[in-house]
Amino acid sequence: MENRIKVKKLDDCIWLMDDNGEATGYLICGEKKAVVIDTMNGYEDVHAVVRGITDLPLAVINTHGHCDHIFGNIYFDCDCFLHPDDAGIAAEHCNFPEFVEACREYKLEMPPFKPINDGDVIDLGGLTLEIVSIPGHTPGGICVLLREKRVLFTGDSINHHLWMQLDESLPLKTFLENLDKISWVTEKADRILHGHAQDFDDILLFNELRSGVKELIETRGETGIKKSTEYKWFGGKAKRYPFDGDGSVICYSDKKLD
Ligand SMILES: [Zn+2]
Repeated sequence: MENRIKVKKLDDCIWLMDDNGEATGYLICGEKKAVVIDTMNGYEDVHAVVRGITDLPLAVINTHGHCDHIFGNIYFDCDCFLHPDDAGIAAEHCNFPEFVEACREYKLEMPPFKPINDGDVIDLGGLTLEIVSIPGHTPGGICVLLREKRVLFTGDSINHHLWMQLDESLPLKTFLENLDKISWVTEKADRILHGHAQDFDDILLFNELRSGVKELIETRGETGIKKSTEYKWFGGKAKRYPFDGDGSVICYSDKKLD
């Protein structure tokens, strides 16, 4: 399937790649090297899209192990980095029968993941990326801080529609502690680009989400001004809690409150 990926230049060194409104990846070009953050669903050759923009040596950073962030890795032969705590989830998703079948049909192979960890730094030449661990949505979720541009790439860990109802998502209390551990990023970044975005968000989203998680833990979505409502998704029924008065929600199940 072609022509799914729409490219939008956001800055002199940042390109947003929107995969049919279903997932978002980014290209960051330094003077010596370029990095792709998340490769989306794999239906279209994202490497070819990137090569239409830059000839620089490449690396891929996957913010976490979910299929809509890693499947496009099949088009790359460079280093593909993933936090080791998401290796199991990535392996599980790569075993989805439709994906295995498509790889066989198109003779494409998933390259191995290389580990990346909290505090790791990648120099692109004039631009620096710093890895910031944020276990929550998945155990091995990371953010990537583009220091010079004060932009934080958050994957699915910080967004307007946070999924915490998944089996692999951590308890909300643990997620809150992890958000507090990295609250320093709000001093280092002005803007957020998340894994399903169409444009920049203000870094204020970080604090709004944090306040929402804290409120939800305290009220269980039952006793405060705001109440949780039912949330249906392809895995069944969960709950959702509004957190910014503008339609943003935290999706969760009751067991994530224990
Ligand atoms: Zn995800």
